[in-house]
Amino acid sequence: MSVRQWLGKFGQMTGQGGSASNPGSGQQPITSSAPPRPVAGVASGSNMRAAVAFAANLSFNHIAKRYGDYTALADISLDIAAGEVVCLLGPSGCGKTTLLRLASGIDRPSAGEVILNGRVVAGPDAFVPPEKRNVGLMFQDFALFPHLTILQNVSFGLRALDKDVAQREAYAALARVGLESYADVYPHVLSGGQQQRVALARAMAPRPSVILMDEPFSGLDVQLRETIRSETLALLRETRSTCLLVTHDPDEAMQLGDRVAVMRNGYVVQAGDAQTLYHNPADLFVARLFSQINEIASTVKGGAIDTPFGRYPAPGHNDGDEVVLCIRQRAVRINTPEDGNSAVAGRVLTAQFLGDLVLLGIGIDGLGQPITSLVRGDRAPSVGDYVQITVDPAGIMIFQE
Ligand code: ATP
Repeated sequence: MSVRQWLGKFGQMTGQGGSASNPGSGQQPITSSAPPRPVAGVASGSNMRAAVAFAANLSFNHIAKRYGDYTALADISLDIAAGEVVCLLGPSGCGKTTLLRLASGIDRPSAGEVILNGRVVAGPDAFVPPEKRNVGLMFQDFALFPHLTILQNVSFGLRALDKDVAQREAYAALARVGLESYADVYPHVLSGGQQQRVALARAMAPRPSVILMDEPFSGLDVQLRETIRSETLALLRETRSTCLLVTHDPDEAMQLGDRVAVMRNGYVVQAGDAQTLYHNPADLFVARLFSQINEIASTVKGGAIDTPFGRYPAPGHNDGDEVVLCIRQRAVRINTPEDGNSAVAGRVLTAQFLGDLVLLGIGIDGLGQPITSLVRGDRAPSVGDYVQITVDPAGIMIFQE
């Protein structure tokens, strides 16, 4: 289904989502009154101001989704607390969008339940259609309608409200993203970042209790992405919205998510906050996502792994196991002459300038591959230099491949 078709479906959710039409949804009554309409094209900055909505919790309980013989989601259980921002992170095809579609009601699960605020909205015996779920959607291809003004675009999900009320709500949503002065212009007048803000306003105008975002920033250039990302997070916080956001980008996931759910092959392999995922990755796949690491194929002997840097215990692994010794690049330290002590000798083979940091490739006797080390630029040795290195044991992890 195309984005426009999705939006078309959600255009029908007008009556349920608007707070004015559904007091039972537990949302705050409208308090804003229509401000005087400003002159189109006069920018008012990008400061976002939020109206608080009441967030819902969202749970997936042993969800599976099959398309014929193909299993897109194998067995997903995940609880998202009210007001929590959770990022779904994983490689292409792992099932991230499928999970959003099930949350929205666009698709039905093959097994398991989707639970919204304690109510089963999809399961073997229940199905609540999208327009009755009070969820908002925002996509990478945010697809503003070119023939509608900005205000009409934002009003799109509010069509079941009285026209005046819908306009007032849409206007208030636009004001939240700092674009009320553009209400009467058409999308082509706006920059990419402004259009993205309009899409955010449109998604939030019905004051959804859960907002679902599918790679909402990936169409933006790097600098704009950073700005819009921060603004969006601030708005989510202010509105205390529950948010499930799909991304490919581990940095984005760590920046935005209270928690990150890492997906692979239709499973959530680990869900946790950024610190947990960084310091205690469940497996090699998660470790690779969150840190730059050296990987050294090794065999466990006597409960440990021997390396040129010393012997490291391998708890949880058996003798003879083929494992991967992971050493964070930051844990490989270049010793200064003052450090003196028992370091390992190596020679700098490559030095890649990365701004404040330099990534060194260092050849070491007894290691069949260069070891990489991320060091401060002002302390970086040059290619060809002989160096002494040590490895911080805190930066070592051992996984089965
Ligand atoms: P990406 O990051 O590339 O968007 P994703 O993790 O969001 O990927 P999904 O779009 O959820 O992945 O798709 C998961 C798998 O399910 C893919 O292999 C996809 O081809 C398959 N799939 C999705 N929708 C359908 C469908 N309607 N019919 C058949 N297979 C489908």
